[in-house]
Amino acid sequence: MAKKQFKAESKRLLDLMINSIYTHKEIFLREIISNASDAIDKLTYKALSEGGAALDRSALQITLIPDEAARTLTVRDNGVGMTKEELEQNLGTIAKSGSLQFKKDMAQAEGIPESDTDIIGQFGVGFYSAFMVADTVTVTSRAWGSDEAWRWESSGADGYTLTSCEKADVGTEIVMKLKPDADEEDYSQYLKTYTLERLVKKYSDYIHYPIKMEVEHSHEKPRPADAGEDYKPEYETVREWETLNSMVPLWQRPKSEVKTEEYNDFYKEKYGDWEDPLSVIHVSAEGTVEYKAMLYLPAHAPFDFHSREYQKGLQLYSSGVLIMDKCADLLPEHFRFVKGVVDSQDFSLNISREMLQHTRQLKVIAANLEKKIKGELLRLQKDEREKYETFWKAFGTQIKVGVVSDYGAHKELLQDLLLFWSSKEGKLVSLAEYQARMAEGQEFIYYACGEDVRKLEKLPQAERIRDKGYEILYLTEEPDQFVVDALGAMGGKSFKSVDSDDALPESDEEKAEIEKKSQENKDVLDFVKQTLGDRIKEARVSKLLKSGAVCMTADGPITLEMEKYFQKVDP
Ligand code: ADP
Ligand code: MG
Repeated sequence: MAKKQFKAESKRLLDLMINSIYTHKEIFLREIISNASDAIDKLTYKALSEGGAALDRSALQITLIPDEAARTLTVRDNGVGMTKEELEQNLGTIAKSGSLQFKKDMAQAEGIPESDTDIIGQFGVGFYSAFMVADTVTVTSRAWGSDEAWRWESSGADGYTLTSCEKADVGTEIVMKLKPDADEEDYSQYLKTYTLERLVKKYSDYIHYPIKMEVEHSHEKPRPADAGEDYKPEYETVREWETLNSMVPLWQRPKSEVKTEEYNDFYKEKYGDWEDPLSVIHVSAEGTVEYKAMLYLPAHAPFDFHSREYQKGLQLYSSGVLIMDKCADLLPEHFRFVKGVVDSQDFSLNISREMLQHTRQLKVIAANLEKKIKGELLRLQKDEREKYETFWKAFGTQIKVGVVSDYGAHKELLQDLLLFWSSKEGKLVSLAEYQARMAEGQEFIYYACGEDVRKLEKLPQAERIRDKGYEILYLTEEPDQFVVDALGAMGGKSFKSVDSDDALPESDEEKAEIEKKSQENKDVLDFVKQTLGDRIKEARVSKLLKSGAVCMTADGPITLEMEKYFQKVDP
């Protein structure tokens, strides 16, 4: 029989698909299952709107049948099915015009590297992903309301055949004849029940129809009543139908009905953490973009957090189907430690969606989530300080880097989250807390940079300021000085290093006093300068000191610590 040809454009798309997406082959199963689920959705809708025999909802299901002997994987559904025309239309035309643009568009929109995007998931050329693992795909289908059945068969880009056949029930059966194993690729894994269980759990857990598979279990045979001491238990293998998916995602349930334990178990299982998260943010948003989100703040940085391997991102679902595993666009860099999922019906798996639309929605969601995350962090800072300090220990540096990066674009957002060590409180305080305590007449937010708090407490320059009753922030981490510089000021008060010349405003009297002392001690000052020579610029009577005898001061706008830092970077 003559093969019908795919439309030219389809052929190219198919070729592109099959040959360019090597890394995510396993997602074919998600696509085939999501089509089956869609087909069942359509059936329930039709049965409702067009009437006819009542539908037995409890029978609706998706079945997986691996057959090692035949080397086939079959996915069966009792959904709406396809007529001959629909088989031809839906599986013979891959996508409408402009679809070949998709890869380029995707990459151009916000400069996302092509390799980072899950193309199939984003655009759902779904069905054809079966050809990533199968040489031949056979689709047998009987449409709802018809007693004819048709078989569509194709071995890839060279076309397909369509023949009449028999099928007892309404629905669709897709048989994938797996490719021979190759060195780099083990296709027979898709015949193993544990692989299929794993893939369903990973990608299709929340499909709201049961996904069933016959699984072998080993059971101990009942012991005979007269079994003696030396009785050896006997086992038998039984095959049982098992539902592989849990069907209801946690995030779709109302917040009030989810127990903390359930949130925590989900987190630990999904993200492989042994420790409970510090906090969970469960969002159900309505309005321009509707979505549900469940975000977690981990209690510690994952082992690879500071390595190149770590990838930020949230899982993106569309109506229970995972579209993208780590959608980086949903999380700003400064909150890259957050884990979680976003589910929005607005992200259709359909290729006909406009690309721009797509990224606009992502942006809206990302902006909302950023606010939610900040809000939750502030809440912890206020109400659960211990937890906040745990957070700060794990991810404070990330927040500081966030303040400094992108030319300070995020400083407004992040400044409230900062904590620094306080000379007055002997613990970490926020800038808002510092400001609330500022003494009358205090013009600056004082800070001192150094290696550790103990050394800073002995800093001679700090004494005079502490004695005035002013609080000093001790900055002991490398990015701190940059953070303060990026902030510049907060609440109208600028930051001032305790060792800057103008750290304290001076009266005319004080000026005269310094002048007088300089005259009186000229011999000593000259001696120091002569002895140290080029190693110092000058020796002078300091107005920064109180009981201390001597201190070092930077020459120019940057502090000593900054000079030390730059010497380290560029010796
Ligand atoms: P999408 O799901 O994004 O529409 P696919 O390539 O995954 O694109 O599927 C193409 C079309 O084939 C579907 O829109 C649907 O009409 C049809 N189809 C695929 N699988 C099935 C199925 N199991 N039952 C009924 N129709 C199906
Ligand atoms: Mg699909």
